[in-house]
Amino acid sequence: MTNQHPPATTTVCIAGCGPAGAMLGLLLARAGIDVVVLEKHADFLRDFRGDTVHASTMQVLAELDLLEGFEKLPQQRTTNITLMTDDGWIPLGDFSRLPGRFQCLSMVPQYEFLDFLTTEAARAPAFALHRQVEVVGLIEEDAAVKGVRYRRTDGEGGEAELRALLTVAADGRHSAVRRAAGMAVVEFGAPLDVLWYRLPKSPGDPEGSFARLVPGRLLPMIDRGSYWQGAYTMPKGTVASLRAAGIEALRSDLQRAMPFLANRLDTALRSWDDTGFLEVRVNRLRRWYRPGLLCIGDAAHAMSPVAGVGINLAIQDAVAAANALIPPLRRGRVTPRDLRRVQRRRALPTRVTQLVQRGVQRQMIRATGTGDRPAGVPVPLRLLSRVPPLLRLFSRFMAVGVRNEHVRWGRSPTAAAPARTPATEGSR
Ligand SMILES: Cc1cc2nc3c(=O)[nH]c(=O)nc-3n(C[C@H](O)[C@H](O)[C@H](O)COP(=O)(O)OP(=O)(O)OC[C@H]3O[C@@H](n4cnc5c(N)ncnc54)[C@H](O)[C@@H]3O)c2cc1C
Repeated sequence: MTNQHPPATTTVCIAGCGPAGAMLGLLLARAGIDVVVLEKHADFLRDFRGDTVHASTMQVLAELDLLEGFEKLPQQRTTNITLMTDDGWIPLGDFSRLPGRFQCLSMVPQYEFLDFLTTEAARAPAFALHRQVEVVGLIEEDAAVKGVRYRRTDGEGGEAELRALLTVAADGRHSAVRRAAGMAVVEFGAPLDVLWYRLPKSPGDPEGSFARLVPGRLLPMIDRGSYWQGAYTMPKGTVASLRAAGIEALRSDLQRAMPFLANRLDTALRSWDDTGFLEVRVNRLRRWYRPGLLCIGDAAHAMSPVAGVGINLAIQDAVAAANALIPPLRRGRVTPRDLRRVQRRRALPTRVTQLVQRGVQRQMIRATGTGDRPAGVPVPLRLLSRVPPLLRLFSRFMAVGVRNEHVRWGRSPTAAAPARTPATEGSR
């Protein structure tokens, strides 16, 4: 990792060092392919990002021999998620009977996770991460992308260019690279937005992560060991009126829904600065690539927070991209056909996941009702508690996803030499 200026040329330039960019950088560098990752921020310290690391990601880490290091990161593991209603508790997820090696969900601060991935990636000489470097445009020649234009966010130097055989947009849901390439997403809309907040835990609090269902609102509470990471869901577009009502209104609402929080709301939620707003969006690109350019992760598809799968899909995209592109990168030529292979591999999981998320969002809105009383627990959620195979299926959907990617190249730092036998075949 370096603070020097990026080089003038490389093999792969990745814009953005979130989960997608960090994992793809690691995989390519381990395969001996020169990769430069450009990240506009100086560090990874951004609160209220996704922290949920599911079994699919842990499996990828195991295949990379990184599990031991990952397990040393601060984290809370949980085997089930429940819904707290006025009539009792309903199971929403049970990871204890998942197939495979991992039977839990792990909550890891995203900055710790990214720090870990980039530290591991930096062990390979082919990897370079440049922070405080913002991609501001693309180099285009002969109808193909040939690299990026960037500027330093610390004010050092003017605009400069980095040429690359392949450019990857992993710069998130507001992707500047995607915009510069003239690629537009199809928006599917979302009926809700979310405000994140954190509250210290106290003796006597409920055990483990859960969601509270009250009239007009669903309030997920993620157990982070010493504190709760709470999510306050609201109908889309109502954050301005919520803020206008003052932070006291939010505190009273939370106290009514979860009286056990009363002793800490005043001190922990003093102003809106103690909250983070997530405008929920569900969208995806029709085409994830152009000659010389590939979009992955949120840059290709913004996911709803339902089931906390955004990080995990971003990681799966990175693995699929590495599996498909390492051979052509080694040959020194990446064609649109190669890039299409990545989209073909990842389009189905993205579509199915978004379809399920949109269905769950509709059920959430129905469940919370609008009047003084909730509309009640919808039938699909009741079925989850009554039909164990259905609960297992939904838990598996959250934890493992629809199509699992397995690491083919770069299982350990010694795998940097070219022409290696695939370690594990991807599932079909
Ligand atoms: C408030 C919030 C809560 C969330 N909660 C969850 C959750 O609980 N579970 C879950 O799984 N997912 C959650 N998500 C979604 C999850 O964070 C994303 O799906 C996931 O991080 C996507 O990874 P990514 O690498 O594609 O993009 P990002 O994580 O968005 O990373 C993009 C990176 O690119 C950098 N960047 C942006 N523009 C440029 C540029 N022009 N030049 C250089 N760098 C640039 C950004 O600084 C960032 O580091 C949440 C998202 C938000 C915003």
